[in-house]
Amino acid sequence: MRAITATLNLTALRHNLQLVRQLAPATRIMAVVKADAYGHGLLRSVPGLEEADGFAVLRLSEALTLREAGYSQVLLLLEGVFCADELHAAAEHGISIVVHNESQLAMLEAKAGSISRPVSVFLKMNSGMNRLGFRPAEYRQAWQRLRDCTAVAEISLMTHFATADDERGITVQLEAFDTAAGALPGAVSLANSAAILRFPEAHRDWVRPGIMLYGASPVAGQGATSFGLRPAMRLTSEVIAIQTLEAGESLGYGSRFTATETIRIAVVACGYADGYPRHAPTGTPIAIDGQLSRTLGRVSMDMLFADVSHLPAARVGSEVELWGDTVSVDAVAEASGTVGYELLCAVAPRVPFKVMD
Ligand SMILES: *Cc1c(COP(=O)(O)O)cnc(C)c1O
Repeated sequence: MRAITATLNLTALRHNLQLVRQLAPATRIMAVVKADAYGHGLLRSVPGLEEADGFAVLRLSEALTLREAGYSQVLLLLEGVFCADELHAAAEHGISIVVHNESQLAMLEAKAGSISRPVSVFLKMNSGMNRLGFRPAEYRQAWQRLRDCTAVAEISLMTHFATADDERGITVQLEAFDTAAGALPGAVSLANSAAILRFPEAHRDWVRPGIMLYGASPVAGQGATSFGLRPAMRLTSEVIAIQTLEAGESLGYGSRFTATETIRIAVVACGYADGYPRHAPTGTPIAIDGQLSRTLGRVSMDMLFADVSHLPAARVGSEVELWGDTVSVDAVAEASGTVGYELLCAVAPRVPFKVMD
């Protein structure tokens, strides 16, 4: 069998969740498990996150999966419901919904007579990201309509930050939110991972950590381990061939790498069809038998190349870490012009998972 494997470390998930607790001790934690728990597998991952007070997902089906598996925490649909059937199902299963626009608000009002029980709402403000939410000037009136609507149980207040990870921070958005929503009752939820790590003033009543739970960094240029996080996923494979190139010989599709001296190459059973980024250039970090090395040439569909000139013990069968403990997913992402989020979410269905407790 092909050796490529993703290993999910439940202990790392627990550790990272615990770190959120320590950073925000008086705050409830809504663990964000959208996108199949950032590529780690929803039902596979939640056993490592069951100390969370809630789970945030995108699709109703994911929330129902968690309910059916026996999770009794708060479940939140981050984009709310898309039709009346979903609203009824959310109400019936006690699933909380984001309300971010007029049509969702109108749907709640229209279905107030037929809903089985009132649904809890996180009313979203667009405080500057300009993606989802009511403008600050419209927010209080939207809140009032929810308050007047018999289909609505608890109302929480939320917004989402656009630049919590960089030098611009959250000041402008936080002020917009507090000015428009400060006087309203209800639990407040503002902080994603970057804001949890960098802005304690944004912790409030519910934090919404995503990427940090999986042990990757939300802040470019600042490694996850510097925050005390542990990677939850290791993507590993094996060397399946060794080649020796003489000076002047080239490697792989497009002959993108040419040896300038004799060089020893490992062919690794992992390619872009496994979710490894095709844009990873020569020099992207990779580890062979725990030793740091670099990729060479172009990543192909099922294979890539690593330099093992300095690793004479490397042979067919040597373990290769694409990312994990020795090579952070963030380092691979940075070399490839993307973020750890994208690489983790893109691990292909053909990659088998192993769970380590
Ligand atoms: C994805 C998401 C989060 C989590 O963001 P991270 O950067 O992964 O911590 C929080 N809130 C909302 C609304 C999201 O969509």
